Amino acid sequence: MTDGAPHAGYFDRGLATMDSAVAEAIDRELARQQDQIELIASENIVSRAVLEAQGSVLSNKTVEGYPGRRYHGGATNVDVIEDLAIERACQLFGCRHANVQPHSGSQANQVVFLSLLRPGDTVLSMALDAGGHLSHGAAPNMSGRWFDIVPYGVRQADGLIDMDAVADLARQHRPKLIIAGGSSYPRVIDFAAFRTIADEVGAHFLVDMAHFAGLVAGGVHPSPLPHAHLVTTTTYKSLRGARGGIVLCDDEALARKINSALFPGMQGSPMLHLMAGKAVCLGEALRPEFKDYAARVLANARALAAALMERQVDVVTGGTDTPLLLIDLRRQGLRGNAASDVLEAAGLTCNKNGVPGDPEPPTVTSGLRLGASAGTTRGLGTDEFREIGGMIAELLAAMATGTGVDEAQARSRRRVTEICAAYPIYSQYP
Ligand SMILES: *Cc1c(COP(=O)(O)O)cnc(C)c1O
Repeated sequence: MTDGAPHAGYFDRGLATMDSAVAEAIDRELARQQDQIELIASENIVSRAVLEAQGSVLSNKTVEGYPGRRYHGGATNVDVIEDLAIERACQLFGCRHANVQPHSGSQANQVVFLSLLRPGDTVLSMALDAGGHLSHGAAPNMSGRWFDIVPYGVRQADGLIDMDAVADLARQHRPKLIIAGGSSYPRVIDFAAFRTIADEVGAHFLVDMAHFAGLVAGGVHPSPLPHAHLVTTTTYKSLRGARGGIVLCDDEALARKINSALFPGMQGSPMLHLMAGKAVCLGEALRPEFKDYAARVLANARALAAALMERQVDVVTGGTDTPLLLIDLRRQGLRGNAASDVLEAAGLTCNKNGVPGDPEPPTVTSGLRLGASAGTTRGLGTDEFREIGGMIAELLAAMATGTGVDEAQARSRRRVTEICAAYPIYSQYP
């Protein structure tokens, strides 16, 4: 070894040799993903191609600015990648402008705030406990601390957004920005009605389609784009790609504001390995197979909801139009945190989630949120999702009566193992 050379193996020895502690944790995580049925609505299982793009030498590159107008040299190749991601996003969602640089969905929303608002401005958005998102104005979030948030909720009776109530709040508070879309709202949102209200009070209208973007891309959910001034999304939920966010719009002047709010306003260099992953997943979503995947996600989410309701499990709004659904556990007298632990031990991973009007704090909750995207990617169909609904109902019933939980968990664990073996993931990994 010569002086100044990197240590032996730096460029060619793999992780297992160089850092077994991290490598072993990754191996165990792979096994966990292979052996559990993933029902967390904000997760999916990316293609080998997306994984490869994300793990590429693009990790080394720093640039600032936009393609053709960079502050660093050596940008030719990453310009190609960013242009592809932009073109594909525009083609997929039928819009004229896309910013593909946000590191996450929250940052995509922050960019919108920064481009349109000043601290103290009024924002009308769905309350977190009604199914909104932290980054839409929740009290502890920057959005909630720096802006004057007027929250709207859902009707107790049916769990749906009450558009008359939204209109009343808008007239009363004259917000500069109105936001629709959330983290646990399972139904189609009336984008046109929101836009009418926004126009009446002179507000911009943002739709955050993080959860249902894949269904919009696949043509099985109405697109917010004809109605919203701006649309944000994550790329890793139903859209099934790299971790990160995107901002979409049709208006040239707004697009310019978004670009400068992102850089130099908020972020420095984009994560180019993730941007390549976004380009790849957007390319995948443009292929005909993706339409089939999106239709199956929706059919599977609905099959799961139906199976649960047939077994006296309450599903908020009585079903779903999206990849996610929300279970209300109050009928069983159960808490979301305990139920999610019992499901995980049975091989079904999901998350506790507040339900509308939830008396429990967010660390406990009275609900579970389930999603069909990852299981669908794996190949599961409506038969399997109905069966999963049966397993969940059985586990919840056992918890409610306090008898047979261990047996139900063991039965479910055995079936999950069989299903996972029948629908393997990453069998050639790494
Ligand atoms: C998941 C989600 C986000 C953002 O998530 P990040 O964790 O910041 O990537 C934003 N909005 C909604 C509605 C979401 O569901």
